[in-house]
Amino acid sequence: MNRISHWIDGGSVEGTSGRSGVVYNPATGEEASSVDFASIEEVDAAVAAAAAALPGWRSTGLGRRAEVMFHMRELVDANRKEIASLLTAEHGKVLGDALGEVARGLENIEFACGIPHLLKGGYSEQAATGVDVYSIRQPLGVVAGITPFNFPAMVPMWMFANALACGNTFVLKPSEKDPSASLLMAELLATAGLPPGCFNVVQGDKVAVDRLLEHPDVAAISFVGSTPIARYIYETGTANGKRVQALGGAKNHMLVLPDADLDMAADAAVSAGYGSAGERCMAISVVLAVDTIADDLVAKIADRLPALKVGPGTEPDNEMGPLITGEHLDKVRGYVDGAADEGATVVVDGREGAPAEGFFLNPSLLDNVAPGMACYDDEIFGPVLSVVRVHSYDEGLELINDNPYGNGTAIFTRDGGAARQFQFDVNVGMVGLNVPIPVPVSYYSFGGWKSSLFGDTHMYGPEGINFYTRGKVVTSRWPDPHTSRVDLGFPETR
Ligand code: NAD
Repeated sequence: MNRISHWIDGGSVEGTSGRSGVVYNPATGEEASSVDFASIEEVDAAVAAAAAALPGWRSTGLGRRAEVMFHMRELVDANRKEIASLLTAEHGKVLGDALGEVARGLENIEFACGIPHLLKGGYSEQAATGVDVYSIRQPLGVVAGITPFNFPAMVPMWMFANALACGNTFVLKPSEKDPSASLLMAELLATAGLPPGCFNVVQGDKVAVDRLLEHPDVAAISFVGSTPIARYIYETGTANGKRVQALGGAKNHMLVLPDADLDMAADAAVSAGYGSAGERCMAISVVLAVDTIADDLVAKIADRLPALKVGPGTEPDNEMGPLITGEHLDKVRGYVDGAADEGATVVVDGREGAPAEGFFLNPSLLDNVAPGMACYDDEIFGPVLSVVRVHSYDEGLELINDNPYGNGTAIFTRDGGAARQFQFDVNVGMVGLNVPIPVPVSYYSFGGWKSSLFGDTHMYGPEGINFYTRGKVVTSRWPDPHTSRVDLGFPETR
């Protein structure tokens, strides 16, 4: 069986812990590879390599750091198909979707190419007579990234592009469910000219994560994953004195007002609800339909589902692939199993007709869903879309704002005033106005509110640069020896 291991100090390193996990081909259900799980010593070796590489890398000129990012940009661009194929093989998402993931990740490398501009500080000449003040931003040191299964290439790129460009060195702990893309990234970074030790990958589970959380030489942790683990990472990492940004789960609502273009809203709900089999933190999970248009909207969504092509991601015509594991499939299917007993209406039953091999569930549509039902309260993370009928904009807004998550949301309407009011009122970090998956472009920042993010700093973009650097302010005087004197007073500027 194929064996997947670590990348430490510029090269591939086989694990020695004796512990490993299984990586499946989700389209067939077969065990495809085994992945080594790092021991504490192996994590320590990766952190030591990153610490040893730090002085050289943080002293490397901005022009050279930008050049490495430009090379990496070219390499990822040239290897889009190879990266996407790895994602399809281990995650299961269809090739077109995998290529989209690579493209959105690449944007972050392109953003990091502008690092000389992004790290410009401020300068105040003559803050007092003969005194100048300036601010600079410096890297934190060794930083770590811990990433989820659903974007095995893009989420690491959210993190390492800015972290490295800022002069930090990096240790990545990817998801153990689809770990290969991280190793390809490591190879590409090395080819791009990144010195050994600047980027390391440790495969593994809680043992590796916990060691990163407590390691004294790790200055900061970026995490993306489910809410319970995000909370744990934030609490443990900050208790150990680290800077932490921990992005959690989601339950994204799409509010459809009566004046919306219902065909456009139905297209959007289907695309955002079932794309990547619903395994996106920005997937639409709940459609809030104002009741005058609810019957029409449910019918339009239901009409679209039989045409969706579900099957292995390697087939170019397929639009939706399998779920990540058999265990996750059972969990997601459980929400459809329980829906009718809880009072929901199963309009389209995805348990029927799904491919027999692999971890497939067909698109499922639930209507008359309400708070208190498991299919509403939980993050399902699968191809199950719930419709909640509401009487008004206000009732829809209240549901969104009462939800513990606050990652993404969308409103569909032709009324610019209503859309603007929604943007003003809603307690969610990323908002779409007639846009169902409002993932910010790489020169803005990504992050939810409430239980979708622990920490103050959003991911990538300008906030990413802030996260991976800390400010220093220098006050300088080059005194005229003729005016120098002892002065015990507190420094004044006037
Ligand atoms: P997960 O929380 O199970 O795993 C994420 C990472 O944490 C993995 O690397 C995993 O190995 C590690 N981990 C898991 N259990 C751990 C434990 N007990 N202690 C320490 N480390 C642990 O998440 P997942 O299933 O890989 O990904 C899906 C989740 O990620 C969903 O909840 C989804 O909404 C969320 N997600 C959020 C965003 C966002 O930007 N907010 C983006 C993508 C995914």
